[in-house]
Amino acid sequence: MVIPKPLCGCHVCEEARRKGVPYERTGPSAFIHDENLLIDTPAEIVSQLNRSRIERIDYLLLTHLDPDHVEGLRVVEHITLDFRTWEAYPDKHIRLILPEQLDNRLRNIRSVYGPLIDYYEKQGFVERTCFRDTIEIGKIKITGIPVDRGSQSSFIYVFEKEGRRTVYASCDIKPFPEDRAEVQSADLLVIQPGIFEEGLKHDFTYGKDHISRTTLYTFEETLALAGRIEAGQILFVHLEEYWSRSHDDYVALEKKFSNIRFAYDGMRVSV
Ligand SMILES: [Zn+2]
Ligand SMILES: [Zn+2]
Repeated sequence: MVIPKPLCGCHVCEEARRKGVPYERTGPSAFIHDENLLIDTPAEIVSQLNRSRIERIDYLLLTHLDPDHVEGLRVVEHITLDFRTWEAYPDKHIRLILPEQLDNRLRNIRSVYGPLIDYYEKQGFVERTCFRDTIEIGKIKITGIPVDRGSQSSFIYVFEKEGRRTVYASCDIKPFPEDRAEVQSADLLVIQPGIFEEGLKHDFTYGKDHISRTTLYTFEETLALAGRIEAGQILFVHLEEYWSRSHDDYVALEKKFSNIRFAYDGMRVSV
């Protein structure tokens, strides 16, 4: 959920309306400047790209196909369309790189005219490139690791360049594939913090069998996981409105640890 959540009068949302970023938060996405690679297209991606002054996108990578990560997929049309031909400006077209398991499901994202991807490819907005396990994009090696979640396919990506490694695990990462060699000792682990059990909106407490526990670790479990895989720095993303925490609360929490940060919109990190 975005912050401010529309119509919500809670203190976190009201503060975000007053102060804007970093108190305001939009959907989960990231951009790797080295190779102009965009990860995920939430509903707010058009304004995110404008706000961050991104000037070029060569590649698009999707972690999974849940609405909060693909609602803004039509951004490829906004970026590439030449209105004179309804086709893409040739120098703007985007390579969509996908693990095979996601490619098989991509056509399920549809408008009333059929699968979006069919139209986008026909007009030259995107060109699909599928991969199994790994793919090299410029100087970056990308490994896609599926999270075993039954019929749902969610991916963790490991980015490696010049001896540096980032593990990107933004959503639906339980059960985390912590035995995989690629996720060990990363310089940077980008991950959901999981459920905060206290201080939630409406004073809610998660029951032992609450459905969210099937998709999310708790914050403490996530910290323990990061310790087991010996992550260097940890960056928490995908921060939810109903956790009822302000940017200031996250900053205060960071200070209790030596190696964690909470992301905010427009944040830039170097690895
Ligand atoms: Zn709220
Ligand atoms: Zn998500």
